[in-house]
Amino acid sequence: IKKIGVLTSGGDAPGMNACIRAVVRTALHKGLEVTGIYQGYQGLIDGNFKEMDTRSVSNIIQRGGTILKTARCLEFKTTEGRKIAYDNLKAAEIDALVVIGGDGTFTGANFFSKEFEIPIVGIPGTIDNDLYGSDYTIGYDTANNTVIEAIDKIRDTAASHERLFFVEVMGRDSGCIALNAGIAGGAEAILLPEKETAIDDLIRHLEDGAIKKKSSSIVIVAEGDQNGGAYYVAKKVKEKFDHYDTKVSILGHLQRGGAPTSFDRVLASRLGFAAVNEILAGNTRITVGLRGNEIKTTPIEEAISNKEIKLSPDLLEMAEIL
Ligand code: ATP
Repeated sequence: IKKIGVLTSGGDAPGMNACIRAVVRTALHKGLEVTGIYQGYQGLIDGNFKEMDTRSVSNIIQRGGTILKTARCLEFKTTEGRKIAYDNLKAAEIDALVVIGGDGTFTGANFFSKEFEIPIVGIPGTIDNDLYGSDYTIGYDTANNTVIEAIDKIRDTAASHERLFFVEVMGRDSGCIALNAGIAGGAEAILLPEKETAIDDLIRHLEDGAIKKKSSSIVIVAEGDQNGGAYYVAKKVKEKFDHYDTKVSILGHLQRGGAPTSFDRVLASRLGFAAVNEILAGNTRITVGLRGNEIKTTPIEEAISNKEIKLSPDLLEMAEIL
């Protein structure tokens, strides 16, 4: 292997830049050449490539987003599209790929590496923390911190006005951000995709709080919540419980931006470093991840097919008590 390509794909996540930097600098250090592929799989198909040197990744470790840009690419879902991508890689003499992204990115990589002779290592980068094989994905810690900062601010106004706030957070079908930020932010209740919460039970819980003279309440609603999201839940609660002035706040895309936390920068650097070493060791169709503070690999197929729920039982129990 003489030259590797690196790309970011799917949703952007803070820490992706730190990861690109680690991939580029590790590869250069080990005597490899590195090509940056712009706009994920779309860039593979369009041949949107740029040679990277050590300066190409200067001054990016602290920046959110991804300097390589990202895209959703339908053409890569077809064999014809992937054939064009492969021909472009061959023409550019790229011998192996590092892909940073989520579930969809890994699914594409799995097809690609089965159809064509190209070693691929995946790195989990998504704020959702919804991938098997790594306790944490790149961007998750930063997103949690962003959410907590927002909850703290909302709490100030909630308490001043005796308000009940329903705060909707990201995570797609995963409740990791909701559970974690709910506990760290001292939420009154947390509604998760993985767990059913009846609206009537929630109302009873809020009534208890009102009896105990709570001046305000914050309920965290995961975007994949089984009831149908913060607006719906707020409307249903208000129909039967109007002790507080009820407000809804959808945090939205601000959760995806911002400077990565120290944890995400180090995680991203470790995983980028590990991915290059795995390629040099001759491994392919794997992902690298952090498990119990050790870097471990997982077959890509397992990373996409294993839907094990990642919410810790102790956090779930605490959410009920605290
Ligand atoms: P996030 O979890 O942050 O959204 P993701 O990697 O899951 O990230 P997707 O948009 O689902 O984001 O996937 C990224 C890209 O991977 C797609 O735009 C597409 O090019 C490719 N991809 C997704 N699913 C497949 C598939 N079934 N076959 C081939 N390629 C796929």
